[in-house]
Amino acid sequence: MITLDGVTKTYGPVRALVNVTCTLHPTNVTVLSGPNGSGKSTLLSVIGTLARPTAGRVNHGDLGSSRREVRATLGWVGHESLCYPDLTGRQNIELAARLHGCSPSEAFTLAAARFDLGTFANRPFRTYSRGQRQRVALGRALVHSPRLLLLDEPTTGLDAAATERLGQVLRDEAARGATVVLSTHDGAFASAVATAVVALDRGRRVAT
Ligand code: ADP
Ligand code: MG
Repeated sequence: MITLDGVTKTYGPVRALVNVTCTLHPTNVTVLSGPNGSGKSTLLSVIGTLARPTAGRVNHGDLGSSRREVRATLGWVGHESLCYPDLTGRQNIELAARLHGCSPSEAFTLAAARFDLGTFANRPFRTYSRGQRQRVALGRALVHSPRLLLLDEPTTGLDAAATERLGQVLRDEAARGATVVLSTHDGAFASAVATAVVALDRGRRVAT
């Protein structure tokens, strides 16, 4: 269980998060909802140890007490794909698996099945459509079966079929015990996957 207690994050005069308290449970798919600029991406960064709170505390429970421990078991899908443009999708996924000490061929086979990666996976990443990039980025983030999976607007660029596949994958990841947290402004997708909701408005947590 991850707990945030009174988390505030300011960027100079901008108050991105104000006194946010919430609990994130393994096996849940927690959706962060709220309008543009409400603090969703900032909250994901704080949960993932990629940004430090200005005030308040984050406790990652049995995931570990150091940033290194948390990051070792973090799966992150942000606005940047983290993929190398000149490697193929397949090579990007295999490289990520190697870095995590996992079987590259097994990791690619699973990602290809989950995200319907076709022959395009053998072309350089830089040649992909937005949706193809996103599907490879999703596959890449899951190679090490992360215990903490954070996704910022993960349906960006995905068509209806790919969005539905992603929903199934997130349910499966949660069912094996992962703590899954995502931001989205796709209301239908949120309703389909959310087992918990944290709603934000101008950096503050509000009732759902
Ligand atoms: P959301 O993801 O809900 O759209 P963000 O967390 O990206 O919202 O942003 C929350 C607020 O913090 C916004 O007003 C945004 O402009 C501001 N903000 C986010 N990151 C930075 C930064 N690095 N420097 C300054 N302001 C930032
Ligand atoms: Mg955002």
